[in-house]
Amino acid sequence: MTQPQRVARPITFALSKGRIFDETLPLLQAAGIEVLGSPDSSRKLILPTNQDNLRIIIVRATDVPTYVQYGAADLGIAGKDVLHEHSEQHAGGLYQPVDLNIARCRMSVAVAQGFDYENAVRQGSRLRVATKYTRAAREHFASKGVYVDLIKLYGSMELAPLVGLADAIVDLVSTGGTLKANHLEEVEHIAAISSRLVLNQAALKTRQAELQPIIDALMQAAIEPSHN
Ligand code: ATP
Ligand code: MG
Repeated sequence: MTQPQRVARPITFALSKGRIFDETLPLLQAAGIEVLGSPDSSRKLILPTNQDNLRIIIVRATDVPTYVQYGAADLGIAGKDVLHEHSEQHAGGLYQPVDLNIARCRMSVAVAQGFDYENAVRQGSRLRVATKYTRAAREHFASKGVYVDLIKLYGSMELAPLVGLADAIVDLVSTGGTLKANHLEEVEHIAAISSRLVLNQAALKTRQAELQPIIDALMQAAIEPSHN
């Protein structure tokens, strides 16, 4: 009797739905990769592509580095914001992120309109800062020599200063529309943010022949001006 052939699992690519998925699609298309289905039109978490050896998994943005680090995904795309927070707790396993220049925005400090942030900083007041990005916030205020009490949130940071939970927030801003709609103002720029390709270190060694063309094609597509 013949043994059943062992088929290697397809290369698994972790993406999050929303802007990262939307902005990755054109890069994949430029690389000849069509994703079959979309996270918006179905509840499927595993999407096949037009290439038998490649599938997409849809995970929370903050979970992308975890899937890649443990090798459940061979590669993924995550924001610099997410990678910076992730690497504080989990060293190793992720290979050299390549900046794809997509999902660009900035990380900023914002306060309620009318709150005199400069003055509070000058006076050495202790600030209450609400954020999902506790590592980035801690490092930012430490470098300024400002004492902060950090309050960890998981979403809707804009609300915190409006209801007295915090004096300031650290959040991502692109147009500033959300801040404005909530009567907040941006008072300090912390970092420029974009999304990066991350690779599982072991997969890069054992499946390099399959991974390299995908990496090269994504990098090539990312530097073409039509996608920036
Ligand atoms: P979830 O919605 O599942 O809680 P999330 O809010 O982190 O997760 P998104 O809002 O889709 O998910 O953000 C995913 C990534 O996109 C972020 O980690 C960041 O790198 C980038 N991003 C977030 N906000 C913006 C923005 N306003 N403009 C451009 N890119 C952004
Ligand atoms: Mg979101």
